[in-house]
Parts: sequence; C-alpha cells; structure tokens
Amino acid sequence: MATRTTLTEGQSATFSSELRLIPRWSVAAAILAFVVMQYLFWVVFPQGHRHPPLPIGLRLYFALSWGVLASLYMLMVGYVSNDAPRRGMSMRIWMIICVVMPGGIGAVLYFLLRQPIISLCPACGTRVQSEYHFCPQCAYQVSASCGNCYRSVRITDLYCVQCGHDLASDNRPARLHAFHS
Ligand SMILES: [Zn+2]
Ligand SMILES: [Zn+2]
Repeated sequence: MATRTTLTEGQSATFSSELRLIPRWSVAAAILAFVVMQYLFWVVFPQGHRHPPLPIGLRLYFALSWGVLASLYMLMVGYVSNDAPRRGMSMRIWMIICVVMPGGIGAVLYFLLRQPIISLCPACGTRVQSEYHFCPQCAYQVSASCGNCYRSVRITDLYCVQCGHDLASDNRPARLHAFHS
C-alpha cells in the first residue's frame, strides 16, 4: 500500500508544486534566521574572550553552514504548516514537534508518519484520500483509472501501462472524465 501511495503522489505532485506550499512568512523567517546566524558568528562570538578567534576561513564555513541550516529549518516548519492540514493531520501539534525536537528529528518523524493527501469529493464533499479512484460515498470518479484493471492512469495516457487496455474504448474514458472534473 505504501509503495502505491508514493507512486501516485510522485506522479501528481511535482517538486515545484510542493515548493509552493512554503508560506511567505517562513521564507521571511528563513532570511531572518540566516541574518541572525551571521550576526552571531561575525559580531557576537568574536567578542567572547574564552576562545582564541577562529581563522577567517573556518569562521566563514561555520557562519554559512549554520545560517543555511537555520534557514532550511524555518522553511521546513512553514512547509509542515501547510502540508499537515491537507493530510488531515494536526498542524499545531506537528509544528510544535518540529520546533521542539532537536536536530530535525521532528521533521524526520513527520515525513515518516504523514498521512496521504486528503481532498474533498467535488460531488458530495466527502474527504477522499489521494489514492482513491472513486468517492466512497457517491462513487464520483475522483482520479483517472483503467477501465479493465482499475489501476491508476495518467489523464494523458492513451493506453494503460499495466495491462495495455485502450483507455479511449472505456464507456466514459477515464482520462477525459478526470480531466473535466
Ligand atoms: Zn462523493
Ligand atoms: Zn489496465
């Protein structure tokens, strides 16, 4: 089941559409986090007299790598805040877990445990998961499938890649039906 879920998700969701889930506030927070890291490494830390000052190359390396890490962390929290609701998961709980768990463990947990994307049936409003072909309440076709073997097909396919079935010969061509919905 897990492999089929990732397969259909990989086909429908491209990387750029995933990037659009990152809200503006988290981009701003990421830039701020980067600036704060630079401030820490170039202004605050050199004033501490406990350690001898680091050579400039090493300092640049630490400042940039910690800045990038902090920025990615902010972007990830923003992504989770938009990704969790469309999977029917609690946004608040997962944002707290991502922020509290050290070293990005919360984010790893999130991507291991996240549920399939949930959308609403256009006909009756029932919550349907992304791998469903038909609404469980009203049988509305929510994604294209082969009329012979009932596996997922892309709306641009002419023949089923699993069984070779001619998709245009279906009573209601799956690709057209999904395309117009
Ligand atoms: Zn329905
Ligand atoms: Zn087929």
